[in-house]
Amino acid sequence: MEFATCLNCMDGRVQLPVISWIKENYAADYVDMITDAGMDGVLAGENYKDMEGILKKIDISLKKPNLNIIFVVGHHDCVGNPVDDETHNRQIHIAVEKVKNLRSSAQIIGLWVSNISNEWKVEKITEK
Ligand SMILES: [Zn+2]
Repeated sequence: MEFATCLNCMDGRVQLPVISWIKENYAADYVDMITDAGMDGVLAGENYKDMEGILKKIDISLKKPNLNIIFVVGHHDCVGNPVDDETHNRQIHIAVEKVKNLRSSAQIIGLWVSNISNEWKVEKITEK
């Protein structure tokens, strides 16, 4: 039984698409979901207090039988982080870099969730 760790937005629209995509593309049986409002913006930001709480949860998740993979997710039409898609993309890259620096033994994968004709579509945009 293998877990993967995911840093996702709290938005209910993107939970199932992200979990399904991870399970289809990686050997994860379960996805530990750590959420915040606009997670990509939180991770790319400068507030160390936010980062501390998230890291604590990451470490709990990594203690389980874990593939040692941490996903970082941003999505289109994010109310918690209302920036344009290009800015989301940039923030996901920054967030992946930051998490990699803090937990270097894990593989960090950045995912972008777009909305195409009312369907949420997940794609990998970066990997560290
Ligand atoms: Zn969101």
